[in-house]
Amino acid sequence: MNGVWLFLAGLFGGIAFLGGNWRFAAVPAAACLLLAWTGRKSEAQGRKSSGSTTRKTTVVPQPSIQEPSTEERRQDTTRAFLKGDVSVVGNEAQAREARKLALRELEDNIDGALFDGLALLKQAVPGGHTYGVLFPGKSEGLYLRAWLTDGGSVISGATIHSNQGLVGQLNKDGVRRVLEGDIVADSTQLHYYSGQDGIKSLAGVPILVKGVRRGAVIVDSVKQNAFDAQTIEKLDSLANLLGHLAYHAYMAFEHAYHKEQLAALTNYQRKFLENMSVENIVVHVQNYMAECLEGDRFLVVERMSRNGDEARIVSCIGQDEKELQGYSFSLSDKGLVSLVFEKEQIVNRVFPPSPHVPRYAAKEKAYGRMASLLAVAVPTDQGVDMALVVESVRPRRFSEHHQNMLSTIARAAGFAMSRARLYQEKEQLASKDGLTGVENHRTFQERFLNEILRAQRYDHQLAVMMMDIDFFKKVNDNYGHPVGDLVLKEVARIISQNIRAGTDLMARYGGEEFVCMLADTDRAKAGETAERIRESIAAKVFEAGSVRFQVTMSIGGAIYPVDSRHGQEVLEKADKALYRAKETGRNRLVFYN
Ligand code: GH3
Ligand code: MG
Ligand code: MG
Repeated sequence: MNGVWLFLAGLFGGIAFLGGNWRFAAVPAAACLLLAWTGRKSEAQGRKSSGSTTRKTTVVPQPSIQEPSTEERRQDTTRAFLKGDVSVVGNEAQAREARKLALRELEDNIDGALFDGLALLKQAVPGGHTYGVLFPGKSEGLYLRAWLTDGGSVISGATIHSNQGLVGQLNKDGVRRVLEGDIVADSTQLHYYSGQDGIKSLAGVPILVKGVRRGAVIVDSVKQNAFDAQTIEKLDSLANLLGHLAYHAYMAFEHAYHKEQLAALTNYQRKFLENMSVENIVVHVQNYMAECLEGDRFLVVERMSRNGDEARIVSCIGQDEKELQGYSFSLSDKGLVSLVFEKEQIVNRVFPPSPHVPRYAAKEKAYGRMASLLAVAVPTDQGVDMALVVESVRPRRFSEHHQNMLSTIARAAGFAMSRARLYQEKEQLASKDGLTGVENHRTFQERFLNEILRAQRYDHQLAVMMMDIDFFKKVNDNYGHPVGDLVLKEVARIISQNIRAGTDLMARYGGEEFVCMLADTDRAKAGETAERIRESIAAKVFEAGSVRFQVTMSIGGAIYPVDSRHGQEVLEKADKALYRAKETGRNRLVFYN
């Protein structure tokens, strides 16, 4: 008998987890689990089941003879997080060993995700003292579930009641944020410090899942007015993501108890918190869609430029994937998917067998006769430039539940995408020279050493050229610094036009000095390139108001391995040659020796 209940619990749980409306399947799943446990108990103890009941929101008290085990505490946490609207099965302490283990893994996964999330918050909102995530407390209020701090007096697992301090506010209905920039009270009054950490500012938002409060995300600082509305926005998006992540993971666990699927779910969400490149996010989001939604084709569509008209299917798996992968179309063709970009609306459509309804563009082929299509926008800080699409050969395949599911995936992907782009921009800034946009000294050094190794490996020659604008100081003195800047930009452009992109390197080495590395190039070929650059610069006419002027450049060259076998020495020798070029009259190319 017990086996049957377990089977049914698994079945309902499976349905609840896999798709359809889980609310319906979850209740019978929970009831079956309860019946299975009740049955098991009576079998084991040889007593008649005492008819325990499923209790809403409350936890059946345990006989408190011993300290609760770690597992039991974890289960309490789970129930506390879920409190508010789900049925909890009684006597969890008798849950099976496997369930305990799975729950522990789940908790560890979620803890990991919370820490990743906090690290990410620290990047997004620098200058904070403590960053924390709070979950609902056992009976009331909030407790500190995870935190990162620069100080030493954070109280591990601090409990904060709704009427305690600023953070307590976040547990009150209607409070959407806390933003204080002039805290005068002792830090212990925040109720999560044991000492005076000198906190002056605090920002926090509640974690809301489907309108229910399930915790809070906070950041504080020892500086006054450290945070603003932007901080709140960032906290909000993190709270949203963490809330959904933890909630869905717990819900899935409570309802389905399918360990492997669960691990996949939390794993996917968690991966979005890792540092991912934009390309990785596309692959990841597609696998995620395929795993969570039943469809016959999964696509990621990208708008080619911000607010532009061109879009492209960057990735496609499923029916006719080869034909569709890389397919470009115009958004002004008013295919269904363009609504996602233009109106940012969810598209959930069912199609008649004919006529063919254009999904992407008017002249597209009627690939694979799909009967349903679901498409949502991926919201990023930069607006909507990506859409997720699922298609099915079955009519009316996608319910509101699927819509929510896909939107959740899109939100997580958008969050990851915004961050990846920010990161890319930062990287770019750090590796390039802000004025000319060419690579800076640091990047050149890094890449140059690799190039030397490569030349060694393939037994190639390699040319280095140091370039310095002649009498540049006079340009500044005569026409002003801004004109000098324009000259620098133009000179950088001329140099980069005369070298092979992707093969050669060039960088701004210092003020008005540039460096070039020509791969697999001997002295004769380097001489030709250098002369071409020198002549192009000398021929360029600049304008400052009504005055026209020209500049010249001196170039010093050296060759690896002819002049030296050491990368650094080759650079030094090119520099010496440049010095000679200056000495001997400027506007010329001189090689070492
Ligand atoms: P020569 O190289 O022929 O010996 O003379 P020079 O005048 O070019 O050499 P010097 O190194 O004395 O002067 C370089 C000048 O470049 C000094 C500095 O003000 C200017 N400079 C450096 N960086 C920038 C910049 O980013 N913008 C502008 N406008 N000027 C810069
Ligand atoms: Mg100089
Ligand atoms: Mg100079």
